[in-house]
Amino acid sequence: MNNLRRGSALLFALLVSINIAWAQQPAPAAPKARVVPAIAQNKDTQAAITPAIALKMLKDGNARFTSGRMTKRDLRKQVKATGSGQYPFASVVGCIDSRAAPELVFDQGIGDIFSMRIAGNFVNDDIIGSLEYGSRVAGARLIVVLGHSDCGAIKGTCDGVQLGHLTGALAKIKPAVDAVPDDGSPRNSKNYAFVQKVADMNVRLAVKTIRDKSPVLREMADKGEIAIVGAMLDVKTGKVTFDGIK
Ligand SMILES: [Zn+2]
Repeated sequence: MNNLRRGSALLFALLVSINIAWAQQPAPAAPKARVVPAIAQNKDTQAAITPAIALKMLKDGNARFTSGRMTKRDLRKQVKATGSGQYPFASVVGCIDSRAAPELVFDQGIGDIFSMRIAGNFVNDDIIGSLEYGSRVAGARLIVVLGHSDCGAIKGTCDGVQLGHLTGALAKIKPAVDAVPDDGSPRNSKNYAFVQKVADMNVRLAVKTIRDKSPVLREMADKGEIAIVGAMLDVKTGKVTFDGIK
């Protein structure tokens, strides 16, 4: 009987100490209520976005992406909301590179941006036609030519790679290689600095080509209805830089 009582006392003491220990733990943080932007862009939100605001939205989106604080979206709700019409605020011409998806690096959802992707993010008549649709018909306020570091298409062009239809595609990037001044350093893919200079130049030339070849977009840009800018993605960090690339 005594043993039983002693046992009960021990068990009680044990339970009390466990309770005390538990009480001393910091209270588990309540899940933070996040406002989920359930809606996608619509006619009204798009109309309120200026080219400067569109640029800020992409910069902010990239900041969220690089910091790991991406917006929580209900993509199915966005699909529902955009099913009867789309009102994207920007167009992005980017490379096919698997690390350079515009929707991801700018943290955007369904119905936010037009994406035109081609190896080496150059522009031709078809891409420019798509951009004209994006801005003139569908109302996108900003055009971004997004290059990226360590681009296989740029490196291939630097090395004069020839392969099937790729040969013709890389020929569109060749003017960027030729436009980088010769500073005596090797002009091939092993020279990282040279490759990056060509990538920057390729973006600048694409922005210029859009303006030169599209009176539609040039006129809109000159009126301030849209902006056409270049940007560079660092695939090592995910960071997109807009400054210095015009
Ligand atoms: Zn690339």
